[in-house]
Amino acid sequence: TAKSNGKGNFCQFNYEMERQVLSRGLMERELRSAIMDFSQFQLFYQPKLDLITGNIVGVEALLRWTHPSKGSISPAKFIPIAEATGIINPLGEWIVQQACRDIQNWNSHALHPDFHVALNLSPKQLYGGKVFNILRQQLKRYDLDASRLHVEVTETALMSDKNSAKETLDSLRNIGIEVWLDDFGTGYSSLGYLREFNIDGLKIDRSFVSDIDNDSNDRTLCSAIISMAHQLGIKVVAEGIETTTQSSFLSDAKCDYGQGYLFAKPMPAGDLEQKLRGTSLQETPNNEIYMKEL
Ligand code: C2E
Ligand code: MG
Ligand code: MG
Ligand code: MG
Repeated sequence: TAKSNGKGNFCQFNYEMERQVLSRGLMERELRSAIMDFSQFQLFYQPKLDLITGNIVGVEALLRWTHPSKGSISPAKFIPIAEATGIINPLGEWIVQQACRDIQNWNSHALHPDFHVALNLSPKQLYGGKVFNILRQQLKRYDLDASRLHVEVTETALMSDKNSAKETLDSLRNIGIEVWLDDFGTGYSSLGYLREFNIDGLKIDRSFVSDIDNDSNDRTLCSAIISMAHQLGIKVVAEGIETTTQSSFLSDAKCDYGQGYLFAKPMPAGDLEQKLRGTSLQETPNNEIYMKEL
């Protein structure tokens, strides 16, 4: 608690800290109660497209939390708390199971052989063999080929305990789960990492993509990342594509895949199913149907 007669700034700083600690504590309690039955959670899926053909090659699973009174809470807010408190472990297990269950449902509509779901893994999930066992168990339970799953990890996740992270990722790759590097360009982005960790693909961070239209440095960076990756035999997806200028620049630069609001926003499993079947969902220019969720 701040001293009542302390200096103004000092007091405010303490109050602010205290407020944050309290709200983190509250969110932690709310997360703990939400993982009793997971009913407040939902997985949304955002398509990844082949930039040449426009075909959906796979999707990324993105977690959504709808709090009973506060409404939708951003994963950018609650994932770090789930991670810091270890809640990410049961939550991550639920995500794997939910994704596998959804794939099995879509499977009845003859998915493209290469279609996959990419799961985001938090740094903590890379340590110890737990996530590997969970992935293997759930693939088996829903009778799915391991190639149906990819994992996305960040460079920071690889750095904290390299050996342990490498062991986990190697065992995932050995059973056929691809490993992708997320938010590429924002961390340490060492070329050594791409080789050392046998990365299958990388995702160019949205911050490089968003300025393609007016920043020639970002255009140069995107092109350089793509050609470097291809020379190492690594595939590339650009995230956060919002304009046709960005999309055509990236496809000219030979970027393999693209993801972003220009093509589709993250959507519930049922909507994706319709999209995969090619029935409803005539794309409106700004995907109004999904505007609600963000
Ligand atoms: P990320 O893995 O880099 O996911 C991409 C984020 O960019 C998603 O935000 C997505 O909705 C958003 N996005 C996609 N296209 C566009 C676009 O064209 N424009 C803009 N402005 N944004 C776009 P989201 O769903 O809020 O997730 C934020 C972050 O939270 C993710 O970043 C990921 O780090 C984390 N996250 C989300 N779901 C999970 C999960 O299931 N497990 C873990 N461990 N982390 C997750
Ligand atoms: Mg991701
Ligand atoms: Mg990303
Ligand atoms: Mg990102």
